[in-house]
Amino acid sequence: MKVTQPDYFDRFSCIAGACPDTCCVGWQVIPDEEHIALYESIPGELGEEIRKGIVTKDGEPTFALCEGRCCMLREDGLCKIQYALGEEALSKVCGFYPRYVTELGLLREQGLSISCPVAAGLALDRIDPVSYPTHETGEPLRYFHDIEPETILWVKKSRDEALAILQGRSQSLSSRLCSILSLIDEEEETAPEVGEEDICTFFRKVYDLYRSLEQLRPQWGQLLRSCGEKRPYILKDDRLLWEHLMSYYLYKYSLRSAMDDSFETKLRLSLVHIILLRDICGKADGDPIGIVQRFAKEIEHNEDNLERLERAMEDESFSCAGLRAILSCGL
Ligand code: SF4
Repeated sequence: MKVTQPDYFDRFSCIAGACPDTCCVGWQVIPDEEHIALYESIPGELGEEIRKGIVTKDGEPTFALCEGRCCMLREDGLCKIQYALGEEALSKVCGFYPRYVTELGLLREQGLSISCPVAAGLALDRIDPVSYPTHETGEPLRYFHDIEPETILWVKKSRDEALAILQGRSQSLSSRLCSILSLIDEEEETAPEVGEEDICTFFRKVYDLYRSLEQLRPQWGQLLRSCGEKRPYILKDDRLLWEHLMSYYLYKYSLRSAMDDSFETKLRLSLVHIILLRDICGKADGDPIGIVQRFAKEIEHNEDNLERLERAMEDESFSCAGLRAILSCGL
C-alpha cells in the first residue's frame, strides 16, 4: 500500500478541553457497533449515563445533543468517556476525527480536515509550501475498485501540475489560480472583461448559493448575510493562506474525483470557495484562518451541501471562463 499524507499529518494532537471550537458541539456523533457493545458492558453510574445518552435518530443510534453539545461533553470541554475510560473507549468516529482517508486500490491518501482548529492551524498557518510525501507500508490490497488506472494516473498528474503552478510564488495568487484553470479548460479563451455590475451579480449568486445550504450554526448564516450585503471586495489578497487552502482542496478532493469523474467540477468549486472566503475575510472581523475553519465545518462534512454545490457548478458563471474573469479582477 502506498500511503500519502501532508507533511504536517503526524504533528496533529487534539487539545480537547482547550479547543476553541470543539467537534463535540453541533455534530451528531454516531457510535459504531463495537463501541455500543462496550458501552453496554460498562457498570455503574457512568455506564448508565452513556446508555441513556445514546438515542435513536433517523433510525441510527446517536449521542444526544444537550443544548447543541454532545451529552458526553463535560463543562470543562473534556469527554466523560475519554476521561474515565481512556482513548480506546471513544467510538471510532471520535477517535479518528479530524483525520480522513481516501483509498483506491493500493493507494491511500490521508489527511486532516481543517474543520478542526488545530488541523486548520497546521495546514494554513505556515510559510513553506505544503508537501505530500508518500511511503510504502507493505499492506495488502483491501478493496477492489473498477476505476481505470489511466483515470487515476491522469488525476494524479493533473493535481501535481496544479500544485506546481500553485506553489510557484513568482506570480500573483490570482494569476496562478487562472493558470490552474487553464489546465482543465480546453477552450481556454482569454478572460472576458467584466464590469462592476457583472462582479456584483457574480457575488450575489455566490452568496445566494451558500446561504441556501443547510447550516450548522445560525451565526454562519448571519455572517454570510452581512458580508453578502456589502459591495464585493476585489483587492490583491496574496496571503499564503489562500495558496495553502487551494493546496488542501487539490490534495483532498483529487483522488475522490477519479471515482465520479469530477476533477474539473471539484477544482472549479474549490476556486469558488476561495473567491467567497477571500471576500468574507476582506469584510468581516476576525482571524481569517478561524473563518476558513468555520466554513469547513459548515461545508465539508455535509454530503447534501457538497452535492448541491457541485450541481451548482453547472451554472455558466462558474465555468472556467466565468471564474477566470472574476479572478482576473484581483490580479
Ligand atoms: S476540533 Fe480538533 S482539537 Fe478540537 S476537540 Fe475536536 S479533534 Fe480536538
